[in-house]
Amino acid sequence: MRSLTAKPAEILQVTDQIYRITLSQPFYAPNQVYLIRDETTMLIDSGYVESIGSLALALKQLGLSMREVDVILYTHPHIDHITAGLLWGTYARRTQKWGHHTMARDIPDYPDFIDVWQADTSRILTLAFRDKQARQTRIRKANDRWARFVRRFAEAQDVPGVGRDTDVSSATQKVTKQGDRAVKLDRLLKEGDEFSTGKLRFRILETPGHNTWHITPLEVSQGFAFTGDLLIGNIPAIYDKLDGNLELFQQSLLKLLEERKQMPAMRFLPAHGDEILQPERAIKIVLKTIGILENGLLKKLVEGRKDLVDLMESAFGAHIEGGNHFITALELLEALLRKLMREGRVGSQLYPDGYEEFYLKH
Ligand SMILES: [Zn+2]
Repeated sequence: MRSLTAKPAEILQVTDQIYRITLSQPFYAPNQVYLIRDETTMLIDSGYVESIGSLALALKQLGLSMREVDVILYTHPHIDHITAGLLWGTYARRTQKWGHHTMARDIPDYPDFIDVWQADTSRILTLAFRDKQARQTRIRKANDRWARFVRRFAEAQDVPGVGRDTDVSSATQKVTKQGDRAVKLDRLLKEGDEFSTGKLRFRILETPGHNTWHITPLEVSQGFAFTGDLLIGNIPAIYDKLDGNLELFQQSLLKLLEERKQMPAMRFLPAHGDEILQPERAIKIVLKTIGILENGLLKKLVEGRKDLVDLMESAFGAHIEGGNHFITALELLEALLRKLMREGRVGSQLYPDGYEEFYLKH
């Protein structure tokens, strides 16, 4: 049994009612969980399962226990946003979970949902690499990584300092609990839903694209957009075959732009990285970058048929191979290609072994 260390989180007070809690995680840039301290105490996202101890410590520093959190609102069900929430009920049963109205129905079993992601990693590596040996080596590596994650999540684990009547300062005190397999929601949120936490008033925007069930809660009395992974410092991951769609992503960004026009002082608080200080500019840069990547692909395809590895090297350089973002980059390029295919500009040939080549249409 491993024990987890509860690293202290960084806390930033944004306003009287809004706090930002920064939690480290193994996959990507640290997660920003937002605490709404109002008549209703609400967290926006919960972070990755292994940072639940850090989150509990941060709350404790602010004079709150886990049980005093009334609501966790999920922007979307990706690992680093929801898995601490799946373990949360073991320590604080009364906390309600809110999220997109079809999320719980569509994801009845979270570890199964993770298996689908693992399978997709094998699929895209098979699609990208013509050489069977090259493929297998990479698939094996990716599977090992997934197996480690699933073990961590599905098995009972030691979480120091987050127990019921725990003295968090006693880091040796350990509580062994198991997470929920199911995503259970107490409130199903949809476009236009409004609610108040006391002083603050929220309205829900459905913002799919990065993820089918992505919502952006807007605080409309003072003007805040909790943009989740929709608008972060760069283009977020988009997995076309799983839960992403580039056209919807672009539409959701334009939707955010509209909201900002209605409320020009609206501040943008993302789930990774710092506050986005120039939201219009940030949105335009993301949309422009997508256009540049698209044009790059089309230009490369003028040379003839290409596979994902060829296109990857020309888009991002060969150095990205072996890096942490390799799979994500492959998936983003695939999302771009599928969009071009839906527009009738690119065609593809899928071979019986799963390898795929892309070509320009006419
Ligand atoms: Zn995400």
